[in-house]
Amino acid sequence: MDADDAVLDSAAAHARRWLSGLDERRIPAAGTAEDAAARLGTELPERGSPAAQVLERLVAAVEPGLMASASGRFYGWVMGSTLPAAIAADWLVSAWDQNAGMRDATPGVVAAEEVAASWLVRLLRFPDEPAVGFTTGATTANFACLAAARGRVLARAGWDLNEGLFGAPRIRVLVGAERHSSVDLALRYLGLGVAEAVGVDAQGRLDAAQLREALVGWHGPTIVCLQAGNIHSGAFDPFEEAIDAAHRVGAWVHVDGAFGLWAAATPTLRHLVAGLDEADSWATDAHKTLNTPYDCGIALVEDGDALRAAMGVHASYLLTSASSVDPFEQVPEMSRRARGVPVWVALATLGAEGVRGLVEGLVESAQALAEGLRRIPGVRVLNDVVYTQVSVAFESDERTREVYRRLVTEGTVMPSASVWHDEAVIRFSVSSWRTGSAEVAETLAAVERAALVGVAVR
Ligand SMILES: *Cc1c(COP(=O)(O)O)cnc(C)c1O
Repeated sequence: MDADDAVLDSAAAHARRWLSGLDERRIPAAGTAEDAAARLGTELPERGSPAAQVLERLVAAVEPGLMASASGRFYGWVMGSTLPAAIAADWLVSAWDQNAGMRDATPGVVAAEEVAASWLVRLLRFPDEPAVGFTTGATTANFACLAAARGRVLARAGWDLNEGLFGAPRIRVLVGAERHSSVDLALRYLGLGVAEAVGVDAQGRLDAAQLREALVGWHGPTIVCLQAGNIHSGAFDPFEEAIDAAHRVGAWVHVDGAFGLWAAATPTLRHLVAGLDEADSWATDAHKTLNTPYDCGIALVEDGDALRAAMGVHASYLLTSASSVDPFEQVPEMSRRARGVPVWVALATLGAEGVRGLVEGLVESAQALAEGLRRIPGVRVLNDVVYTQVSVAFESDERTREVYRRLVTEGTVMPSASVWHDEAVIRFSVSSWRTGSAEVAETLAAVERAALVGVAVR
């Protein structure tokens, strides 16, 4: 076997060992970045080393600093783990080494992405055929969608964005007070400034009546950003009423559904997204709920021409398809990996039934977790658990933080520490295909231990 084969086999063996060790591993990283950096070396070596040796060094240096976020007892931020078939697909994406931007250059992977996109569009019940771009994540998907929105609302107001933004009519951007910060970031990238926040209810849902009121009498260029899936409560904005209010004044409606858009995949949860298909653009992630590898977000835009006008480019050296849209015209990147291929593999291995089972399973686990947590003395579950998120607090901020510290020190489970409605909270996001009833039971036992110890030292 030559050295190139050996290093690939070695990587596969290390990957298998890592994955099979997830159950025994403490979840938070044990090592620090400084320790890892010291092992990786301070000076670039003048002479290189054999690849197999370098790989061994890499693994030894980095593994202590890895967080076991693929574990079924990991609930931090909103992060899925990865389906084994999707990992395998990701390896092939690297080995094939296709630059997925140009259809005529790399037709194989472009086809895989386009089939994945059309399956998704049907799975998530979009009535028409929105343009779909595979981005690095929901932040860049929000960016691509909002770039399309910016160009379109300005064009409707008679302004050509090729003239730049200076001197353009003012664009009003309205968001729910509890939108995800990546929406603010995307607006900042686009030079749209700080959005107007519309009030929300106790679950963090945008108040449609307040939105309606804010828009009364206004007819300039407007963008309204709604949310499917509040990170603390999992709640969904009232799409029907909010989109109606926005469309009455000609606004473009964008929905950030990084993890919540997947509720549309199943009849038991579809009521949560009722009316959402009336929006103009949607951002989601495959690397959260669908459990594909990073980095994979998805931008969907009803008006494909608006997306192309914002993201497309034409240059003599590009191989531009005469008949169809090229992938690079729908995303911020020109060169990129074929990140949609693992999406095709995930959808093909799960089937529609498997995706329904995955999403429903996450929600059932979240509800079982909430149910168990409510029985632990001192715990208050703060949200209506309609989806995958559970936020809890103890008697005081101090005690909530103390329980969180104990949980993470033990390391059996890892939720997020956060602040919601001015209160310290522990937030569980059930996002991994590996989380089932056994993991929920272990999680509840761990929280019980952390809560009890807390009482004993008070
Ligand atoms: C995670 C998340 C984002 C950002 O997604 P990335 O993939 O991290 O860029 C945006 N909105 C919501 C609601 C999220 O949960």
